[in-house]
Amino acid sequence: MLLTVPQDKQKIITQLFINNEYVNCQNPQKISVYNPITEELVSDQIPVAGEHDVDAAVAAGNAAFVKWRAWRGTARRQLLLKFADLLERDQEELGFLTRLTLGAPYLAFGQGEIQTAVENFRYFAGWIDKFAGESFPQDDGFYKVVRNEPLGVVAGIIPWNGPLASVGLKAAPALATGNVFILKPSEKTPLMAAALGKLIIEAGFPPGVFQVLSGDGSTGALLASHMNVAKVSFTGSVQTGKTVQILAAQSNLKRVTLELGGKSPAVIFDDANLENATEWCVNTMTVNSGQICFAPSRVYCQAGIYDRFLELYGKKFTAKKMGDPEDKDTSLGPVIDKAQYDRIVSMITTAESEKQGTLLQGGRGTTGKGFFIQPAIFVDTKENATIYKDEIFGPVVVINRFETEEEVVAKSNNSKYGLMAGVFTQDINRALRVSSAFDSGVVGINCISTINISCPFGGTKESGIGREQGSAALRCYTEPKTVLINLAY
Ligand code: NAD
Repeated sequence: MLLTVPQDKQKIITQLFINNEYVNCQNPQKISVYNPITEELVSDQIPVAGEHDVDAAVAAGNAAFVKWRAWRGTARRQLLLKFADLLERDQEELGFLTRLTLGAPYLAFGQGEIQTAVENFRYFAGWIDKFAGESFPQDDGFYKVVRNEPLGVVAGIIPWNGPLASVGLKAAPALATGNVFILKPSEKTPLMAAALGKLIIEAGFPPGVFQVLSGDGSTGALLASHMNVAKVSFTGSVQTGKTVQILAAQSNLKRVTLELGGKSPAVIFDDANLENATEWCVNTMTVNSGQICFAPSRVYCQAGIYDRFLELYGKKFTAKKMGDPEDKDTSLGPVIDKAQYDRIVSMITTAESEKQGTLLQGGRGTTGKGFFIQPAIFVDTKENATIYKDEIFGPVVVINRFETEEEVVAKSNNSKYGLMAGVFTQDINRALRVSSAFDSGVVGINCISTINISCPFGGTKESGIGREQGSAALRCYTEPKTVLINLAY
């Protein structure tokens, strides 16, 4: 059954969620969203929150913050757990609302994405009474207490490629630590975010604690430059991330977390288990049609195993079924929209015409409706080529050959990105040496492009600032306050 827009358009909410109410947007501007499978219009009524809307949400947030930060930890924990249960209960509907404009298959992507959100709310709920701060003895006459204080209004500006997971990654730690949260979803996937308002009310969040403002970059910029927003937690492209940091600095020096792009290297040594290496590299490159920040889009394979690796990688790549995300055995959906389709196809054709590398297979758009691109493999790519250096954010991989460990470490690190890297080898000494040499926020040994909720996730270099998940995330949403108690009085 083809993914189609429901006749009953009731499911599509075209209002903002401010102070626990669905309200009409004061700004008259609207956005259109389309179904990437059928190319039909889903809605042309998505509101773009403007200055007055943003001001209203920020004011409601700051008013709510005073009480919310003082809530009993156990009560806050219950709320987050209830919200996680509601997300889980409504996962099919939320998944559908995301899929309608994203196009990624539910089983191969959507289900895991929602589970990430659910688990983040549960995980950070568990931290609420365990991030108390520190104390130091009165050896100098002062008893010292260091409290982890919430910041205030946190704006979560998120991308389209993992919209619900991003809500969990940002809202859960922000709310757990006593901040209030304003969600600004991507203009390409606004439907699921708008539906969250109903669950926020049902969970019992007080007004102003968790709000949703749809909009485009202009809404994001209003939040990033707002004088009464204390922090922006941003996920998106490097270019926009830099703009957000500038806006934050030019306004009130608000805190920023930036989760940005990547061009993650996978390094396959001659002694690697070929089946395991190809399985990881292909599966994580094709999920969500390569529109994943930490996809292994730059592969280096050692000369002795190179031909066999290429053959198996190519076979597995081709075996991925592309088509309707409603089919259970579909692995690859379309890319999100026409702009993304045109950008990727143009990068591929330019790479071919400029001989940036050799296109081994795929790389063509399919005929008929839908923004489908056959997954592409480029080999022998030049190291100064765009296709080799830049994030494509689509089903396009570059695979190059290497000879020595020293050479491949240098090549892997010669990138402005540092989000994820992976090394595949049976030699544990080499695996540990290379993992330590990678300049990257996360490293996989005999695996790649996977994360764990208890451990920090984020990038070095231009892949970002700050970390999500694990206790590291809590530090990004709090500021230590030192209290000195003079015991002489
Ligand atoms: P984007 O930068 O175009 O947009 C991201 C968000 O920023 C959207 O909500 C958008 O409306 C908003 N925005 C746009 N202009 C803005 C401005 N001037 N001020 C404030 N906000 C603004 O990114 P995208 O196309 O939605 O997402 C794809 C990018 O996200 C890729 O580069 C990908 O690697 C990255 N990403 C990173 C991670 C990570 O965890 N590191 C995860 C997912 C995606």
